[in-house]
Amino acid sequence: MKIDGSKMRGKRNIIILKFGGTSVGDADRIKKVADKIISASLEANRVVAVVSAMGDTTDKLVDLAGEVSSGPSRREMDMLLSTGERVSGALLAMAIQEKGYDCISLTGGQAGIVTDEGYSNAKILYIKTDRILKELKKGRIVIIAGFQGINLRGDITTLGRGGSDTTAVAIASALNAKYCEIYTDVEGVYSTDPNVVCGAVKLDAISYDEMLELASCGAKVLHLRAVEFAKKHNVVLHIRSSFNDIEGTWVMDNYKKDNRMERPVITGVTYDVGEVKVSIFGLEDKPGIAADLFGRLAKENINVDLIVQNVSEKNFAVISFTVRNENVPLAEKVLSKIENVRVEIDSDIAKVSIIGAGMQTHPGVAAKMFKILAEKEINIEMISTSPIRISCVIKRGEIKEAVKTLHSGFGLSR
Ligand code: ASP
Ligand code: MG
Repeated sequence: MKIDGSKMRGKRNIIILKFGGTSVGDADRIKKVADKIISASLEANRVVAVVSAMGDTTDKLVDLAGEVSSGPSRREMDMLLSTGERVSGALLAMAIQEKGYDCISLTGGQAGIVTDEGYSNAKILYIKTDRILKELKKGRIVIIAGFQGINLRGDITTLGRGGSDTTAVAIASALNAKYCEIYTDVEGVYSTDPNVVCGAVKLDAISYDEMLELASCGAKVLHLRAVEFAKKHNVVLHIRSSFNDIEGTWVMDNYKKDNRMERPVITGVTYDVGEVKVSIFGLEDKPGIAADLFGRLAKENINVDLIVQNVSEKNFAVISFTVRNENVPLAEKVLSKIENVRVEIDSDIAKVSIIGAGMQTHPGVAAKMFKILAEKEINIEMISTSPIRISCVIKRGEIKEAVKTLHSGFGLSR
């Protein structure tokens, strides 16, 4: 795909490459990644690579902590978990040096990533880029341990699980890099899950908002926070496979100008089987009831997704909403404290969503979605929308058929 050159104007001739845990899973893979970084450094002027911990190292470290402590302190957890990325970073630097290239690995703190105090889910405050720039100027390839920084007390912090993506995007923004390539175990972002629909197509490019909707609807290619960061700071992303050289998916705004052909109104179909439906019967229909109900859930940090309230009968209302599977026990506890209501939990549900920036200018997309589902006799239990997304809750057993039929119905299949 030809990408719009104006997006790159005013940017430094630096590119950021990020490699996930699978890509650096063992010594052989690390050597292959070293080759990729070297060839990128021969093409582009300067290269900075950000790495995740090898394979499932972070999970193993979490387990290990559990073996010595029932409630490890968050500071020590960050000390522990941050080591995974230091291991892969140092090994990668050695592999590059072995091939005769000058290279240095840095921890997040050494790279100048300063975060707030929040251990285990720290936010980046700023990045002091002097050290990285100094190393690049010496002609070195710079490797940065992802997922971590240092707080103003000088303690190591981590950015939350999956946080290496955020490191990469933040570094790209701070260095004003041309773009940030995310190397992963898939070839890019697909119009739907290729494991469900064999006609799924890899997308050349999508906007930040589409990527955000895809990510929050269950397409786990990129850390949500990284996409938000990229959108806010206009960092051009390229999501691609670390196992081949095929072009992946570009994430940027206004990419449509570069494409001669008109794109379909819908960009992708996603699904999510990680939620359950909670219904509360017998709620008094008066002002303040919803505020009270959802206030109680919010206080326990329970995220609520779709909400439906029916028409009240005899001044009693039914409110249904969805929550993540893992929040059910806590939600049940919170709801059991509300008097005179009946709570029903239905885990036999799934959410199917269609996403596309094009629906903002094309009316009738929702009607078309409902019609496609109706033709397959699929019943819709709940509906929610955003400017570029329509989601329907249906029976879990029908989810695959729904995804397939919507994907082909909207003309996305190959
Ligand atoms: N290693 C960390 C994790 O597994 C960070 C990352 O991979 O992005 O969550
Ligand atoms: Mg990851």
